[in-house]
Amino acid sequence: MIIHETDCSGCGICRSMCPVEAISVNGIVAVIDDERCMECGFCASSCPNKAIRQDSTEWPEEDKETAANNSAAADKISEHRPTVICVYIEHTGGVMNESSYEAIGAARSLTGESDSFKIAAIIAGNGSRQLAGEVMRCGVDEIWLLDLDWLPFYAEDVLTRIIADVLARRQPDIFLGGATEHGRSLFPRIAAKLGTGLCADCTDLSLEPVTRRLIITRPALGGGVLARIVIPHHSPQMATLKERVFPRADRSGHPAGMILDFSDEYPVMQSVYTLGKRILQEGKRFKLGQADSIVAVGRGIGTAANLPLIHKLAGTIGAEIGATRPLIDEGWLEASRQIGQTGVIVKPSLYIACGISGALQHTVGMDKSEMIIAINSDAGAPIFQYADYGIVGDLFRVIPEFIHCIESGTF
Ligand code: FAD
Repeated sequence: MIIHETDCSGCGICRSMCPVEAISVNGIVAVIDDERCMECGFCASSCPNKAIRQDSTEWPEEDKETAANNSAAADKISEHRPTVICVYIEHTGGVMNESSYEAIGAARSLTGESDSFKIAAIIAGNGSRQLAGEVMRCGVDEIWLLDLDWLPFYAEDVLTRIIADVLARRQPDIFLGGATEHGRSLFPRIAAKLGTGLCADCTDLSLEPVTRRLIITRPALGGGVLARIVIPHHSPQMATLKERVFPRADRSGHPAGMILDFSDEYPVMQSVYTLGKRILQEGKRFKLGQADSIVAVGRGIGTAANLPLIHKLAGTIGAEIGATRPLIDEGWLEASRQIGQTGVIVKPSLYIACGISGALQHTVGMDKSEMIIAINSDAGAPIFQYADYGIVGDLFRVIPEFIHCIESGTF
């Protein structure tokens, strides 16, 4: 790999993308350790300035031009204007969705108290105005308000057109929202309309110190790896955030931001969607993600016939029951109880893992629990790496003992 030093801004994106840690930044430019380098090319494809190439051939003129433009853009970002992070406030008729608090919390953790950032929030649709105070209390600096009483939350085609238009006018650097059913449908449409990049279901966010480009982490390749993704050439850099992963915004501040009201600028538009009837789905009432304590069960339970033991433990401590995917696939418990990458993300104050090995696809859904107790007969099970307390033993002996101690008050 060859680094073209005159085009390298020393931003370090290549360093964070290198899977074998072969790149360092010497304060001015990136340096590649040829001994370690596998020539995978991740650094070249992520470089915003096209300063890295896989061979020493002459660079095409258009690449040089892009490099110059991107360097200039990076300079402009870091020196002259605050980086604007915009958050989409998902709500139903003025009732704010939990994912919106988390999106603001994620934006806040990126910016800290630095005044070289600004957090904006788009509130769109009917009932938007009444949310402005609440959103500002969470530490948002600017509200882009679209209080349109004719626009319901499900009219995603119209929302796409209006939100994409506001984003094109305000030009935020980053646009974040929840990876909810609504967010998963709306964000790809907006990204396509703006011709920019979107990373869905991300589990971590950070910023490159120099360029302030977003580094997005999400599980990939079936959860076997955590991929770091950048959107180097397009703006806004968009991401939807996996629910219950990011910190909830603290809403203790005084509303002190500014409202930019775009409501009168958009005439009534016809959506292709009409609402037939609203039906509350039975299964959706149960929200494992909000449980304060969870007893989670894995394949170590053996058969469905043994599940009453888990129910007994959960009943004794007033916990909900969660499970690993194999148990759901077997049909032993309903799908809403699956915890992990393709299930629910949970963050209870107490999580007891019974007969669970601790596969990455499971642990991404529970590793932020406040206290984790693991019971497993295999002392080498990965779940013990996450546990605050580990009990190596047969769950059929440990759990009855556990229940006995709790019931007799000797725990
Ligand atoms: P196992 O890995 O079989 O572990 C059973 C554990 O029980 C072992 O550690 C064993 O030592 C212990 N044990 C056995 N008997 C006893 C006993 N008597 N007492 C105590 N301990 C005992 N999984 C999820 O959970 N959630 C997901 O969202 C998810 N998404 C996935 C997505 C993809 C694309 C893929 C490919 C997989 C996904 N998986 C998911 C599956 C995941 O990879 C693991 O296979 C699964 O989590 C393992 O479940 P387990 O721990 O119950 O079973």
